[in-house]
Amino acid sequence: IGIDWGVRETATTTSDAHDLPHAEHGKTAAECLARYQRMMARRRTPKNRPDTAGYRKARKAAAKVSKKIARQRQDTGRKWAKNVVRDHDALAVEDFKPKFLAKTTMARKAADAAISATKTALVEMARKHGRTVHLVHPAHTTMDCAYCGARAKHALPLSERTYTCTACGAVSPRDKNSARVMLVRAGLNPASADLVSPSPC
Ligand SMILES: [Zn+2]
Repeated sequence: IGIDWGVRETATTTSDAHDLPHAEHGKTAAECLARYQRMMARRRTPKNRPDTAGYRKARKAAAKVSKKIARQRQDTGRKWAKNVVRDHDALAVEDFKPKFLAKTTMARKAADAAISATKTALVEMARKHGRTVHLVHPAHTTMDCAYCGARAKHALPLSERTYTCTACGAVSPRDKNSARVMLVRAGLNPASADLVSPSPC
């Protein structure tokens, strides 16, 4: 199976049954977290002064919510990883590195955190069950054609959801093309990838 990470779908794979939509946990929890962070900001004391009880209370509440979000991400990641590992014996995974840039949006940060948690869960699960994991360097994976290997001259804008190859004319959803590129780069055969099931032993 080939796996590409993204914002809309946490994981897009070469198998339609194994795509993982972006979980919205977060959404209400994130608002909750933001509220506690604002409370902390209002209750902050000047330097070298002890924290007020209100500040400590808000900080405790914020920590509790962050923990909850992290646990939910891990849980979703593990459940998904279990299915992927059960149904495939070789995995080609985009070697995603979170950026956490200051200028990224909240949505991007949430997506990055979800991807990190899911990738960790997947690699752990695969190792536990003796699956082969190929980590694929992410450079140009959205620009290459999974069918003929041609590289597009320009990166697709994020709004463009369809990959159209100028060399061979292949048209496929952008993330599906990337997932397939993972397979090709890992040296796995894309044609048989969806059909392999791990040996029963
Ligand atoms: Zn092509």
